[in-house]
Amino acid sequence: MAVKQMQHFCPTCKMQRLYSKPGVSHILHGIASLVLINFWIPWFLVWIGATAINWGKSYRCSVCGQVE
Ligand SMILES: [Zn+2]
Repeated sequence: MAVKQMQHFCPTCKMQRLYSKPGVSHILHGIASLVLINFWIPWFLVWIGATAINWGKSYRCSVCGQVE
C-alpha cells in the first residue's frame, strides 16, 4: 500500500517532523477496475469507497506517533 507523507510541526517533538498515513494504491485499483469491468464487477465503487475512507484518516508523526 502506498504511503502519503508530509512535513508538519509536531507539538510533542517541538520540531518539524515527517508525518505519514497509509494511502490508496490508485494504480492497482485502476488496473483492477479495467479488468473487472469486463466481468460486470463495478470495482471502481470499491476504489471510490477506499479513497473516501482514506480522506478521513489523519497523519501521524513518524517519530512519536502524535496525530496531526
Ligand atoms: Zn512527534
